Amino acid sequence: MEWVQIDEPILVLDLPTAWKNAFEAVYNRLQSSPVKILLATYFGGLGEHASFACRLPVAGLHIDLVRAPEQLTAVLDNFANHKVLSLGLIDGRNIWRTDLNAALSTISAARERFKGELWLAPSCSLLHVPIDLEHETALDPTIKSWLAFARQKLTELEVLRLALEEPAAAEPDLIVSANAVRSRRESTLIHNPAVQAELAKIDSSLTQRQNLFPVRREQQRAKLNLPSYPTTTIGSFPQTPEIRKARADFKRGLISEADYIKHMEHTIEFCVREQESLGLDVLVHGEAERNDMVEYFGEQLDGFLFTANGWVQSYGSRCVKPPIIYGDVSRPKPMTVRWSQYAQSLTDKPMKGMLTGPVTILNWSFVRDDQPRSTTAYQLALAIREEVNDLERAGIPIIQIDEAAFREGLPPRQSRWQGYLDWAVRAFRICSSGVKDSTQIHTHMCYSEFNDIIKSIADMDADVITIETSRSNMELLEAFIDFNYPNEIGPGVYDIHSPNVPTTDDMVALLKKAGERIAPDQLWVNPDCGLKTRQWQDVRISLANMIEAAKALRSVAV
Ligand code: GLN
Ligand code: ZN
Repeated sequence: MEWVQIDEPILVLDLPTAWKNAFEAVYNRLQSSPVKILLATYFGGLGEHASFACRLPVAGLHIDLVRAPEQLTAVLDNFANHKVLSLGLIDGRNIWRTDLNAALSTISAARERFKGELWLAPSCSLLHVPIDLEHETALDPTIKSWLAFARQKLTELEVLRLALEEPAAAEPDLIVSANAVRSRRESTLIHNPAVQAELAKIDSSLTQRQNLFPVRREQQRAKLNLPSYPTTTIGSFPQTPEIRKARADFKRGLISEADYIKHMEHTIEFCVREQESLGLDVLVHGEAERNDMVEYFGEQLDGFLFTANGWVQSYGSRCVKPPIIYGDVSRPKPMTVRWSQYAQSLTDKPMKGMLTGPVTILNWSFVRDDQPRSTTAYQLALAIREEVNDLERAGIPIIQIDEAAFREGLPPRQSRWQGYLDWAVRAFRICSSGVKDSTQIHTHMCYSEFNDIIKSIADMDADVITIETSRSNMELLEAFIDFNYPNEIGPGVYDIHSPNVPTTDDMVALLKKAGERIAPDQLWVNPDCGLKTRQWQDVRISLANMIEAAKALRSVAV
């Protein structure tokens, strides 16, 4: 083995001095090995670490010039000609064809100052993109011509090599690539003037509820009449094999739309009756019609497309098939109203409508790269806002806008966090601000590291936030030592990722712990995420225990 690649993407983060020093010590020791080391960095730039990273005693360095093209200058300032410089020129995190002429300009800029050996590479591992575009036979041919999956990206690299070594042979491919880039930029498929007009009209009137939370809370209390420590769930209930079969049969045309609707309505009715008999305070319809919280919305929005086989690894052995946002996003018609409205018609308890938020849809999709991500987020937000307003009009008193992946969009460097948080919060507020004060907006987030962005989360101004905490034993509460969270909050007390059935005592203890930092009249009682992966028999017992816990706290409070 001549070369070993060692991945150190941590070099694109803020690093304590001790860690930097450790790099030097460790790589000095590795230097004695006979193999050559390629130190690979990606997902961002080396920033102020450029000079020390370039001086580490390794044979080569890989840099991500897709996410951080600006780092090239600093790297060239510090790089020695006897080393190999690997240029990450092809986007390993997205599915668009590369502008090969732009990549060639970058290579020649590097060439002018660097006389050593240059390698051409994707920006990072290709496990983040699907394998082969050729298998996608049903895609619109124009849009398909804009895309490159892993195999096509390797071909792009080969074309770049040819363009440098045998320019005549590469010429036709370079022209094809330039045409694809131009076709995409100019295509009427991606531009929707109506969406762009709406976008231009976004101002502060679209991001403010009518009144501040204390006023809204009074109106919501009067309308909803909930007990203290209100109980609810995060949205989904167990997805049984029958539910999945009904969805698959409908998709394949094996059952009619009328039969499918009947099946879903039955499932909703079952779910509502279960929640009523358990004694939950705020009910949900159960999300049986959804395969996935992003795909379900993407399939109904314009500007999205779905692949047949575009699977990528999510974590462990789990794979997802992210949608591709290729054009301006808009909502041709309501997406969830019929199900929530039907569910509300079955019960006097308040029904919570359930939507996926714009930031989560963005963070779990392949997003167009011809405009800032914030612009796409605002387009998504305008579409979700229409859905929120339609749910309110249909008589749904509580609407949850899930931002499960809100944190995932944070840039690697903390100095860039605020820029992201500002537009991400604004996108959420666009969705949630069109309703009356008496309509209660919830949001849900799937992580417990909350402390460092608590101010932005408070700025989202959701009336209620539910959040994962049970696994971390209420670690999030640390955030409340210095920060007075103004609105209501449901720190999850039932860990839905664990097969264990939580006892009432466990949950009472967690709630008491929460009560040390959060006023009892701010607290909600709920699981820490959706229940779709669990079985009814466990869910019934766990929720019954959770409701007992809420009752125990109410009796103490009286
Ligand atoms: N409402 C979604 C559900 O209950 C939320 C899922 C999530 O947070 N990942 O399934
Ligand atoms: Zn969750």
